[in-house]
Amino acid sequence: MHPVDNEIVVHCLASGSSGNAVLVVAGRESLLVDAGLGVRTITRELKRRGVAPEFLSGVLLTHEHIDHVRGAVPLSRRYKIPLIGTDGTLQTLLTQEGRDAPTRAVDSRGEIGVGVFGVRAVRTTHDAADPVGFRVSVGGFAFCYATDTGTLTPEFREACVGASLVAVEANHDIHKLRFGPYPDIVKSRILSREGHLSNNAACDFLLAHVADHGPICAWLSHLSDVNNTPRMALNYWKKRYTAEGCKASPAAVEVALRDKPSLVFRARSRSVQLALF
Ligand SMILES: [Zn+2]
Ligand SMILES: [Zn+2]
Repeated sequence: MHPVDNEIVVHCLASGSSGNAVLVVAGRESLLVDAGLGVRTITRELKRRGVAPEFLSGVLLTHEHIDHVRGAVPLSRRYKIPLIGTDGTLQTLLTQEGRDAPTRAVDSRGEIGVGVFGVRAVRTTHDAADPVGFRVSVGGFAFCYATDTGTLTPEFREACVGASLVAVEANHDIHKLRFGPYPDIVKSRILSREGHLSNNAACDFLLAHVADHGPICAWLSHLSDVNNTPRMALNYWKKRYTAEGCKASPAAVEVALRDKPSLVFRARSRSVQLALF
């Protein structure tokens, strides 16, 4: 089954420390954002959605941590698909894998074309070689993605202006993390500028965004198994949203699940509709 030609569909295949992958399909073209599942799982999930892996235009990589790159090099070598990331991410990944793969560098200075997609890297702050998030645009639609970041940079906030869909990290509930079982050194790392975003930080960003720029759909992403739950993240958003006295429905917020395909967003390439399916 192929999507209709002017339809854009974004599929969250997994989001969390066990693996991350988001598939963006625009008509007959597609790309993957992160490839943190095994190559067999990725191939199966792509085929289920009518996408032949050899026709991916590229695999965007946010950083070299295993939950984002597990299937990247095998997928790239098997199907001759370019891995697209910063120089730091690509070099570190190929060194850690000990073998070569087709690559293409991207930086935060400008947009590159990947098939029909425009791709811009936006800086994140994380304990990796040169981590970034992405803005992926096609036909009036834009999707912004930032997980594994201790802060949301001005670049990322600016990239979200005009986007229809934002996947933003909501890794942990601060209270649950502070009083949870992790060793202090791990807690400090997660809470640091180079760690992971809390429910609190994700909601601060979303509330500021809808106040300044209007409606958006958001996927709370990369939730911790230990320090968060989908219900907790969503309830936190609802509480903040109500407390701020937000009127009508300026944001549709959903939670991406950790270890299985979950959310799907559909839009038309010219008249993008604000809805989650
Ligand atoms: Zn991660
Ligand atoms: Zn990471």
